[in-house]
Amino acid sequence: MKKRILLAVYFFCVAACDLEQTTQNTGNQSVPVPSAGEYLLHNAQIYTLDADSSTSTAMLFDSRGVIKELGDETIMLDAYPDATRLDVDGKTVIPGLIDSHGHLYGLAISLSQAQLQGTQSKQDVVRKLREHERNLSADDWLLGRGWDQNDWPVKEFPSSKQLDDAFPDRPVWLRRIDGHAAWANQAALAMADKDLSGDWQPKGGFIHRDSSGQPTGVLVDGAMALVEKTVPGISPELLQASLDLALQRMVSLGLTGVHDPGINREVLEVYRQRIETGRFPTRVYAMTDGAGATLDWLCENGVVDDDSGRLYMRSTKLYIDGALGSRGAALLADYADESGNSGLLFMSARELEISIEKALVCGLQVGVHAIGDRGNRTALDALENAIRRYPENPGRHRIEHAQVSTAEDVPRFSQLGIIAAMQPTHATSDMYWAEQRLGPERVLFAYAWRALLDAGARLALGSDFPVEEVNPMLGIYASVTRQDTKGWPQGGWYPQQRMSRQEALRGFTIDAAYAGFMEDVVGSLEPGKRADFVVLDRDIMQVPANEIPTIKVLQTWLDGERVYPNL
Ligand SMILES: [Zn+2]
Repeated sequence: MKKRILLAVYFFCVAACDLEQTTQNTGNQSVPVPSAGEYLLHNAQIYTLDADSSTSTAMLFDSRGVIKELGDETIMLDAYPDATRLDVDGKTVIPGLIDSHGHLYGLAISLSQAQLQGTQSKQDVVRKLREHERNLSADDWLLGRGWDQNDWPVKEFPSSKQLDDAFPDRPVWLRRIDGHAAWANQAALAMADKDLSGDWQPKGGFIHRDSSGQPTGVLVDGAMALVEKTVPGISPELLQASLDLALQRMVSLGLTGVHDPGINREVLEVYRQRIETGRFPTRVYAMTDGAGATLDWLCENGVVDDDSGRLYMRSTKLYIDGALGSRGAALLADYADESGNSGLLFMSARELEISIEKALVCGLQVGVHAIGDRGNRTALDALENAIRRYPENPGRHRIEHAQVSTAEDVPRFSQLGIIAAMQPTHATSDMYWAEQRLGPERVLFAYAWRALLDAGARLALGSDFPVEEVNPMLGIYASVTRQDTKGWPQGGWYPQQRMSRQEALRGFTIDAAYAGFMEDVVGSLEPGKRADFVVLDRDIMQVPANEIPTIKVLQTWLDGERVYPNL
């Protein structure tokens, strides 16, 4: 264990390593270790996010990355004359940010694919794909994600035709921005392990077809697997390079932690290897990918709690419904813009309960993805029953997204101690069309942060990257304004649901830490906790709200080591 941490120091420390170092022989190699000194960060505006929301101007931490004391700069400069000084020039310091629902592995994969977010038309997509194709070898599929037909002049789902014309031979497989639909060319559809034509539909999914029963190129939810299971895997070299990019992006935006919802053992192993070789500048709180093999393994072997403090797995991610954009979210009544369609439950309430119990019996936490009001009610019902049966389970169960609720279900979150793991930028991405889907009544309980907070629920905030952008400043901005970055709509979209800056920051720090059972270690700057912190170029609590998205992270520190810049 000791060796692992020393290796991490070697790769990550920058400021600390510039200082006096000794060399310690750890057996087969020598690695530098920092001097046993202490570091005094000063000339800072520190928001500690402790229980009293106190502020400080100086913070002392040791070379092991443990915070020793916070307080007044003048007093502490006097009290610790020998500490190495880190003058941050009056800048703002906050605890390291934690994204409570961000797909790190998914981000790496998406960075290995064509990025189609923000494309303005189908022609625009094809242009980007041609650019991306230059990096591929002959056997590679052309993969991409991020398209959204709502951004295009023609808002209907596209067909394979545009892709077939440009790429007649190479399979093309493009996931929609929400990950709940995919657009394919005929070369990709032909790879499906089953003939996609006819009039049948797969369970929990939908194949778009023309009048003669031929698939037209878009597969929704459960239908996607028919093609997806034949997509060749990413090469180890491309994966490592993409993870470098993903981690670099995280730390450059002030993220020192992420809850990675839904990974398997293979990914866990990739993370672990990177930790061992000192290439993992963040903390990951991982959730299993459903109630299958990964959960079985976790139950058998016990929770993952790596010595490095950078990798945990003690949670299971389950799904009950799809997304609102593709009308896959399960609603209690029909979609306002499509009668006869109320979305899809992926499984019955009883089946969900069985999966939940499978995790609870092993002492694990459960996070259920639920978007529609029927999805959320089913998840709450199932969790309520399961919690009653396993009172010894430590709880802190979560509903991931908790996007559309009802007046009667909102109070149940706090009553049952269920954390709402929500993504503020989902509201500002969806606000252009969410009311069309939901109508004027249901929309009042959509993205209902204020209602949940007022009812006593705890919100753990995140981005759902790569579905949304990684930058947590965009989430904090959305939380306090409910506007897009152009300031639309004036006054905010259903502004009664806004949060305060303090609440938003808590959601990205201490409350996110709580949702991952890590509030004693990280999430606030207090003596005894890890020195995970971020230096910002402006005061996030004071700048005009419209400046929040452009706040820059100047430095990111993890375990008392600077991981950005100069990773
Ligand atoms: Zn997600």
